[in-house]
Amino acid sequence: MTGLKLGAHMSIAGGVSNALDAAADVQSNAVQVFMKSNRQWKGPQIKDEDVSRWNEQMPASGVAYAVSHASYLINLASPKDDLWEKSVAAFADELERAHAYDIRHVVLHPGAHTGSGEEAGMQRIADALNRIHAQLPECSGVITLLELMAGQGTTLGYTFAQLARIIELVDDKERVGVCLDTCHALAAGYDFRTEEGYEAMMAEIEETVGIDSVGCWHFNDSSNDHGSRKDRHAHIGEGFVGAEGFRHILNDLRWDGVPMLLETPKKEDGDGKDEQNLRALAALVTDPARLPEGLRPSG
Ligand SMILES: [Zn+2]
Ligand SMILES: [Zn+2]
Repeated sequence: MTGLKLGAHMSIAGGVSNALDAAADVQSNAVQVFMKSNRQWKGPQIKDEDVSRWNEQMPASGVAYAVSHASYLINLASPKDDLWEKSVAAFADELERAHAYDIRHVVLHPGAHTGSGEEAGMQRIADALNRIHAQLPECSGVITLLELMAGQGTTLGYTFAQLARIIELVDDKERVGVCLDTCHALAAGYDFRTEEGYEAMMAEIEETVGIDSVGCWHFNDSSNDHGSRKDRHAHIGEGFVGAEGFRHILNDLRWDGVPMLLETPKKEDGDGKDEQNLRALAALVTDPARLPEGLRPSG
C-alpha cells in the first residue's frame, strides 16, 4: 500500500517552484501546476534557477507527485488547420516544459470538434499526438493524460469509451493515459454516489481505458447535477457529488497511490479553502494511516 496522494492545483506566480511551497503549506503531498499562463499561447523562457529550486524543493517540501495542466487554449481536435497547427506547437511546448522540470504527467483537455463530428475530432487529436511524439523523442518519459470532460458543447472525451478510442488511435500507447475528474464524471452522466453506481462506473473504466491508465484524479464537487454536462466546480461536500461520491473513490484500494488533486475555487488573495477541502476529504478516509501525515486527524 502506497497511501493517498492528496493535493491541489497551485499558483506558479513568481516561479513554478513556488507551487511546491504552497502545497507544503496546506499539508498536502501532491500538486498540480500550469507551466505558464493557461490563457496565453506563449510562455516565458524556462528559467534554470527555477528548475534548480524545483529540484531542491521537491524532496524538501514532502510533495511526492507533481502534474502539469496544459493551456486551455489548445484544441488538438480542431478541424481548422491554423488553430490545429498552433495547438500542436503549444502542446509540444507543454511537454518540453514538463520534461525540463522532470514532471511525468501533463493533463490535456482532449479538444472540441466544433462541428466536424466526434470520430473526425478524435482522429485529429491522435494525429496531433502522433506528430508530437515523433517530433519529441526526448520527451518520451512524459505521459499525456487525456482528461475526462463534462461534455459541454462539442467537447470530446466525456465518456471512458471516447478516451479509449483516442488512445487506440495513438501509435505509442506508452505515452498516453487518462485523468479522471469527479465533477466532470458526474456531469457527463456517471452516477458514482451510490455503491451500485460506483461499481458500474468502475466496471466501465476496466472495460475501456483500464484502471492502470489513470494517472491522476481531479477531485472537485459539482455545482450541477448528474448528467447536466456542465462544468462548474464546487467545494468538497458543497455540490452534487457530496461526501458519498468521494468516499467511494478515497477508500477503494484500487486507487491507492493514484494522486487526487483539487481544482476548487480559490480566494483572490491566496489559496483560501484548499486546506479546508483537503481536511473534508481526509475525514472521509476510513484508514487514517493512508493519509499524508499533516492531514491525519490529531488524537
Ligand atoms: Zn482540466
Ligand atoms: Zn472542470
